[in-house]
Amino acid sequence: MYLQRVGPKRADILKQEAGIETCEDLLYFFPYKHIDRSRFYKVREVTGEMPYIQLKGRILAFETVGEMKSKRLIARFTDGTGTIDLVWFKGLKYITDKYKTGHEYIVFGKPTEFGNICNIVHPDVDSIDDIQQVASGLVPFYPTTEKMKKSFLHSRVIQNLQYKLLTALNWYVPEVLPAFLLEKTRMISLSEAIRNIHFPQSPELLKKAQNRLKFDELFFIQLNILQTARFRRQKLGGIVFPKVGDAFHTFFKDYLPFELTGAQKRVVREIRKDTGSGRQMNRLLQGDVGSGKTLVALLSMLLAVDNGYQACMMAPTEILAQQHYATLMELLKDMNIRVALLTGSIKAKKRKEILPAIANGEIQFVVGTHALIEDTVVFASLGLAIIDEQHRFGVEQRSRLWIKNKQAPHILIMTATPIPRTLAMTLYGDLDVSVIDELPPGRKPIRTLHRYDSKRADLYAFLRMEIQKGCQVYIVYPLIEESENFDYKNLEEGFKLIQEVFPEYRVCMVHGRMKPKEKEEAMQRFVSGEAQILVATTVIEVGVNVPKASVMVIESAERFGLSQLHQLRGRVGRGADQSYCVLVTSYKLNEISRKRLEIMVRSNDGFEIAEADMQLRGYGDLEGTQQSGDGLFLKIANLAVDGQILQYARNMAERILEDDPDLESDMNRLLRERLKTLFSRKVSWGRIG
Ligand code: ADP
Ligand code: MG
Repeated sequence: MYLQRVGPKRADILKQEAGIETCEDLLYFFPYKHIDRSRFYKVREVTGEMPYIQLKGRILAFETVGEMKSKRLIARFTDGTGTIDLVWFKGLKYITDKYKTGHEYIVFGKPTEFGNICNIVHPDVDSIDDIQQVASGLVPFYPTTEKMKKSFLHSRVIQNLQYKLLTALNWYVPEVLPAFLLEKTRMISLSEAIRNIHFPQSPELLKKAQNRLKFDELFFIQLNILQTARFRRQKLGGIVFPKVGDAFHTFFKDYLPFELTGAQKRVVREIRKDTGSGRQMNRLLQGDVGSGKTLVALLSMLLAVDNGYQACMMAPTEILAQQHYATLMELLKDMNIRVALLTGSIKAKKRKEILPAIANGEIQFVVGTHALIEDTVVFASLGLAIIDEQHRFGVEQRSRLWIKNKQAPHILIMTATPIPRTLAMTLYGDLDVSVIDELPPGRKPIRTLHRYDSKRADLYAFLRMEIQKGCQVYIVYPLIEESENFDYKNLEEGFKLIQEVFPEYRVCMVHGRMKPKEKEEAMQRFVSGEAQILVATTVIEVGVNVPKASVMVIESAERFGLSQLHQLRGRVGRGADQSYCVLVTSYKLNEISRKRLEIMVRSNDGFEIAEADMQLRGYGDLEGTQQSGDGLFLKIANLAVDGQILQYARNMAERILEDDPDLESDMNRLLRERLKTLFSRKVSWGRIG
């Protein structure tokens, strides 16, 4: 179908920026909020705390102030109860041409407060007759990106497109749930739901539409997960590791560097039970940073070897893979086990040596990155695949490991990102879960401090003191894709500054744009202790282990998510010294950032933080454009608040599959078809990060 006003260029932008290719994509491009435009506020009532508001009145005068970058247009606006400034930084000429003083307008925007003065930056200004009428007054707001706005694909334009499309469809969308399910759940039809999500007829119907669409989204994910899990259990027999043999025993007796914690022991037992059961293991191992997952991984790998199988361990980055490799080599140095490292940067010559040795079984352990799942890597008998820091590996990649052997290998996924229950159920609903909830003994809790960047001098004095004691320091800068260039500039300036402030010490830098070799060299200088300070981006986020590094400074900490902050903090606190994490921010912070930082300062508990993170993100105004990096892309359901709907959807899915595991019955025809369209086209919910 062809929509008016969407030429090839805009179609392309819709595709690139919002993933909209088909009519269905557009209909499922939901508003992230609705704003009640039936209500008008008085200028007199306006405060900076208010969300989006609407005012009706006249512009008294225009004034241009400032020079260059700070040049802006101010329109003084009044409704008779007071005056407020409307401010524009862009499109000044357009605004002064379009709007006239004295004419009556409706102004819509978010008030902000500067000092004691309130203004509205870049408001929508419309003549009374131009406002799109939505029966209920509830106007939808669609997520838009900068690029979309540049092509004039504003929220309001999208609303128009929806309107055109829905009229062309006669407001009818084919149902995807069978009648019995609609009846049982007492939900509205899909047509009604789609109509009301875009053009609510009343607040009640909007709520019902949201519930229906959230249910659909979560229900089909659950149906898919549960069906896959069922299939795996029934059709894929598991490799059996019946015995614990020499490799495990010898290591345990002679080379185990320390006594296992109770939690580590328990998890090893769980893994032994799984791998001996005759069913394929699919286990998620959650354990906070530093809880000792690597050792559990190694012991499981030894079990595989004892039973005549190979094992592999896959990490998300080159540096991590190298570290794991080094750790395993060290721990296994006196044992007769061949370990190989396989990453993208392994030279062709070396690769030619390794690959045949993996294929004929001489190499028992392979540690690597994505390179491991390439088709050229053939195992003689892969019995166990371990995935470290899995949130970067999607479902798709996981499944590519299963086919590495005639029989699917056991899979152990390790993560240091504690996952709230609802998220775990959605992302890993097919996995069994083990938890390491105990840190190795003797760890001192990390002390977390929040400092304003105006107090930089004190911070540097503190760092100097710590370095004099023999400690090493990480300094991390945020790097967020959108403003990458700007961020790199910050990073490099930070690097120079640190070099100037600490001329007596060696400072090195790593970031994602460096060549792997340079990156590794810089990293190595820090790991070896030659450099005292490492300035970096979040490339050091996961897994890196430098026991002497006991101070983590995070610059612009307000720009990081909570889980990310917690991950970064986990890089320190691994040795015997008291460790510190210093969160540096400017003085100006919004409500949510302040809360985030408070939680970080207060809590060291990854689960508490993960839960809080989800709540804050869930309620926070995300402006709809970014879903966080938890590997899950939900269009409407919000796991922070929709736990009940999720549980309900899962129960329904379970019940349906119990009666009809392959969804063969006529009654379930719609479900079968919907699953097929949803999950064969793209695994959109298992996005690979
Ligand atoms: P993570 O769970 O974050 O991957 P690691 O496996 O890297 O944690 O372990 C963190 C540190 O704790 C390592 O230096 C490791 O040698 C040490 N460690 C692991 N298990 C124990 C234990 N039972 N007792 C003491 N130290 C341990
Ligand atoms: Mg680890």
